[in-house]
Amino acid sequence: MKTKLPALPLALLFVISAAAQTTSHFDGQTWWDHIKVLADDKLEGRDTGSPGERAAQAYAIEQLKNAGAAPAGTDGFYQPVKFVSRQIVEKDCSFTLVRDGQREPLTLGEDAIIGTRVMPARKVEAPLVFVGYGLQVPEKSYDDFAGLDIRGKIVVIFSGSPSEIPGALAAHYQTAAQRWKVLRAAGAIGTISLINPASMDIPWSRIALNRAHPTMDLDYPEFHETEGAKFTATVNPASAEKLFAGSGHTFAEIAALGKDRKPLPHFPLAVSLEARTKVEVTKVRSANLVAKIPGTDPALKDEYVVLSAHLDHVGIGEPVNGDRIYNGAMDNGSGSALVLDMAASFKKNPEKLRRSILLVLVTGEEKGLLGSKYFSAHPTVPPKSIVADVNTDMFLPIVPLKLLTVLGLNESDLGDQVREVAESLGVQVQPDPEPLRNLFVRSDQYNFIRHGVPSVAMSFSPDPESPEQKKLFKDWLTYRYHAPSDDVNQPVDLAAAAKYEEIVRALLISVANDEKRPQWKPDSFFRRYAQTP
Ligand SMILES: [Zn+2]
Repeated sequence: MKTKLPALPLALLFVISAAAQTTSHFDGQTWWDHIKVLADDKLEGRDTGSPGERAAQAYAIEQLKNAGAAPAGTDGFYQPVKFVSRQIVEKDCSFTLVRDGQREPLTLGEDAIIGTRVMPARKVEAPLVFVGYGLQVPEKSYDDFAGLDIRGKIVVIFSGSPSEIPGALAAHYQTAAQRWKVLRAAGAIGTISLINPASMDIPWSRIALNRAHPTMDLDYPEFHETEGAKFTATVNPASAEKLFAGSGHTFAEIAALGKDRKPLPHFPLAVSLEARTKVEVTKVRSANLVAKIPGTDPALKDEYVVLSAHLDHVGIGEPVNGDRIYNGAMDNGSGSALVLDMAASFKKNPEKLRRSILLVLVTGEEKGLLGSKYFSAHPTVPPKSIVADVNTDMFLPIVPLKLLTVLGLNESDLGDQVREVAESLGVQVQPDPEPLRNLFVRSDQYNFIRHGVPSVAMSFSPDPESPEQKKLFKDWLTYRYHAPSDDVNQPVDLAAAAKYEEIVRALLISVANDEKRPQWKPDSFFRRYAQTP
């Protein structure tokens, strides 16, 4: 199915597609109708803590109530969450490279972006050392820091991982918390990230536009994971040679090796950094939404299968083609709408559920998976009662559903259940084909995993034999992902979306009614989180 389809009236589009793909509980239309509300310009892109997000939450609660789902937050459907918001004041910031007393100021936005997820120190001066992928992975006896002195220095990291480290493991060790543990132990005071040009989802120009957005963090000391970090920044690949001049190496050489996940060298850079920063900090409040579809088995009804999706998006930002509203129709109006549809489907066609289903619409995903981080640390049901998380985020029904990529497919027997359910509906599954993009840690399932809960997230994949479909997905990421054009004026395949919903529904029922709760595979790295008390 091509991008031309939306020129047809949607109703007609659905009739055509429905003939080819049978589903029984969903028609795609209610899903799209929810998205039309959530991604309306009036909701202004649902930024965390914004009036638009509050309106989206009110809409979701109304729908959950209509569907007969029970409130399961701490305040009705709500679980309040507190944030700090950090806004960089770029005119009062600088980023200068110093070589033999010669100063070379970089242009903020064009050459580099100063990060605020870590609160930067007002003033930083430090030598720079290139540490390759900047990873320490004890399971694979891999250590980019062996023999390097990084005490008091800022490490320059090439994003990505060597091929000897499996994708999920590499993704885990690239999270800010894991990375910083290693860096702090070794005495580093900050990081400069070099984007791997081979895994850039969106062009630098749009990354640079997004820097005007404030960042957020959870406003609770228990979540402070980057103690001691004084500076973080990201450098434009097109400007990265400036850091390597005089080092005996080039960025081109590093990028060529990193593209194929080959080993990278480690060496001190010939430049040091001088930076000045100013950040304004404010407090923000938002909430997760939690609802329950109760199970009936006396022994199992107090166990929960979580269906999660983030309701927030990135809000209003720099205009692209004159449009300032980042509507977030697919990211993640699509997953939120699915959760609402799911609740309604269980009202319309009640199922005998042994375990209960917990519907969790989190906030702050776009700010760094913050709402789910809070929820998984402070669930509104007993922590041990959560048996699985099925997360839905931007699953992209832009082609007919033939192939699903399942993050976490081989980590737990929840993955086996996905395979069974999908194949019974004629859909093939595959593990993440692009480990470089780190998708495994880039949505809310990851916080459940860190608390020992077997989790999966599924999304549409292009037919590997179809260059046309591959281009469709690539173009989507380039032009619509985190752009104002991720709105309701884009082509979607409603029948394919309905089929995806059918798979999620069948999976939830399968997990809810299975005799045993899902288990991590014995060889899964993530099993360790289930074993720590
Ligand atoms: Zn997003």
